[in-house]
Amino acid sequence: MSLPEVLAGIRAAEAQAGRRAGSVRLVAVTKGQPLEQVRERVLVHAHLQPGGFPLGEGRAQELRDKAAAAQEARLTAPDGTSLEWHYVGPLQLNKVKYLRPVALVHALEDVRQAQAIADAGAKWGHAPDVLLQVHNGEAQKHGIPPESLHRVHAEVVQTGLTVRGLMVMAPEGAEDQARRVFADTARRGHDLGLPELSMGMSGDYPLAIHAGATLVRVGRSLFT
Ligand SMILES: *Cc1c(COP(=O)(O)O)cnc(C)c1O
Repeated sequence: MSLPEVLAGIRAAEAQAGRRAGSVRLVAVTKGQPLEQVRERVLVHAHLQPGGFPLGEGRAQELRDKAAAAQEARLTAPDGTSLEWHYVGPLQLNKVKYLRPVALVHALEDVRQAQAIADAGAKWGHAPDVLLQVHNGEAQKHGIPPESLHRVHAEVVQTGLTVRGLMVMAPEGAEDQARRVFADTARRGHDLGLPELSMGMSGDYPLAIHAGATLVRVGRSLFT
C-alpha cells in the first residue's frame, strides 16, 4: 500500500460514516523507519493533507535523533514550518527529556507523566499537548482504567498541560470488541468534552472512523 491509498481508505470511511471529508487526520507512524523512507513514503505526499502529516514515533531516543536529522536535512511541512512530531509510544519518565520536538503526546497514562512533561515544558518554553490513553479492558498493560478517567483528567489539567482528547488501542483481530472499545472511548471523550479521539491503526482504522476517530495512527500500511 501507499499513503495515497490509505488516504483514499480514510476518505471512503468518512463518507460511509456520514462524516465530513477531512474530519480525520492521518498520523503517519514512522517508528523503525529510516528518515529516507519517511521522506519517500510520507513527506513527498505532504501536500495531500492540510498542514502535512504528523509523524508518529514510539521510542523517545529514536524520535529525538530523527527529528534532529530532519532538521539537519531541512525537511519541513508544506508551508515551510518545521515537521510536526507526535509521540505515540508508552512514556518513560526518564525519557521525557527527549520529547522536546513533540507537539502531541498520544498515550499519557498518569499524573506523574503529566508533571514530568509539564516540568520539561517549563524549561523548553513550550509543552506538548496530550491525549489520555484509556485501558481497553483486555489483558493489556497500558492505559487509564475507565473508572479513573475523570480523576486523572482533572489531575493532568492541574499540571497546566492541555488535554486534547483520548487515545485507545483496540484488541487485535476481534472486530466486535474493537467496535465496542472505540464506541466506549468516543462516549467517554464526549462526556469529558474533549475534541480529539486518537484511535485506529493499519488493521482497524475504518472501524475507528465509524466510531468518531479524529486522528488515526497508521504505520505498516504506509511502508509495505
Ligand atoms: C506502531 C503503532 C501504531 C501503528 O500501527 P500499524 O499497525 O503499523 O499501523 C499505532 N499506534 C501505536 C501506539 C503504535 O505503537
